[in-house]
Amino acid sequence: MTAETKSLVRDEIVAINAYHVPPAQGLIKLDAMENPYTWTEAMREEWAQRMHNIDVNRYPDPQASALKDALRSAFTIDSEYGLVLGNGSDELIQIIATALARPGATVLAPEPSFVMYRMIAVFTGMHYIGVPLDADFNLDLDAMLSAVKREQPALTFIAYPNNPTGNLFDVEAIVAIVEASPGLVVLDEAYFPFAGASFADQLSRYPNLVVMRTVSKMGLAGLRLGYLFGGTEWLDQFEKVRLPYNINVLTQEAATFALEYRHQLDQQTDAICAERQVLSEAISAIEGCEVFPSAANFLLVRVPVEVCALHSALRNEGVLIKNLGASEGLLANCVRVTVGKPDENRALVTAMRQCVSQLPAV
Ligand SMILES: *Cc1c(COP(=O)(O)O)cnc(C)c1O
Repeated sequence: MTAETKSLVRDEIVAINAYHVPPAQGLIKLDAMENPYTWTEAMREEWAQRMHNIDVNRYPDPQASALKDALRSAFTIDSEYGLVLGNGSDELIQIIATALARPGATVLAPEPSFVMYRMIAVFTGMHYIGVPLDADFNLDLDAMLSAVKREQPALTFIAYPNNPTGNLFDVEAIVAIVEASPGLVVLDEAYFPFAGASFADQLSRYPNLVVMRTVSKMGLAGLRLGYLFGGTEWLDQFEKVRLPYNINVLTQEAATFALEYRHQLDQQTDAICAERQVLSEAISAIEGCEVFPSAANFLLVRVPVEVCALHSALRNEGVLIKNLGASEGLLANCVRVTVGKPDENRALVTAMRQCVSQLPAV
């Protein structure tokens, strides 16, 4: 960078690294929590027909009304709640933070959790506080409550289930944090389809709670669509911050179409949940590997060998996973693996068993 950029770009932006997405060409891709299943030929043809009829010379519907109706009915979102769509839930995090970024305002989240909470706090000039989870990856309630009291966060993010640990935090602990919080609490339910648990029915009880979800993990990652719902006193304000045409015309139509085939997506979700159990047992059977309980479409695994070496050895065997544990701390020696198709999972287990047995133990 030049002296000029250094003098003009904010120090906290200069200090961070860009979000890194490793190349995956030709690899079995188990690093990003994607649904491994694609659409049937019949579905693709009908979809192509719907795409064919779109006029891309026109701006999209700024309200995305048809898509919102489809989301409300697919996920039973009561008409009394406001609903705001984002270009992925990443954008919703940015919208919420932008609206709440008063000078000196604080974002709070347990750690380890989704990295965008911290990144977007930095982007929006907010103060960020991460509170470590306990050794079992549960919320450390005492630490969370004292951080809430001390920091008075304007905004708290809780991922339910949590990424990258995969577990559902204790409901009573979350409720206690919501009740103690002076600010807004966002329950991030990105893995809702796999979890069978939600805070949506608690919205009427807690005016400082909103629920955020995404269609990414349920099989539509390429469309970039997240949705946020809760009391209109919040959602009406967030709607002002949303850029007018953030959900493009192709995404609006494709997501509306996909929700008409919800049963197919649900079947895929069921298959992934069943396969999660199979994969968990297979990895647990590898000498020295510890698999943590997961309510999501991925597994957190502590491995008995040096993680960076394992990560590259697996890549050499054609399997891409996420390395989490290069440093010390709660995730030391941990990797995260997305649940793939049965044959992909078998390839992972075979490669992992071989690499673990060949690498020096830690
Ligand atoms: C993947 C993920 C998201 C982001 O989802 P997008 O809608 O694809 O931006 C948000 N929160 C958590 C916890 C996630 O794991």
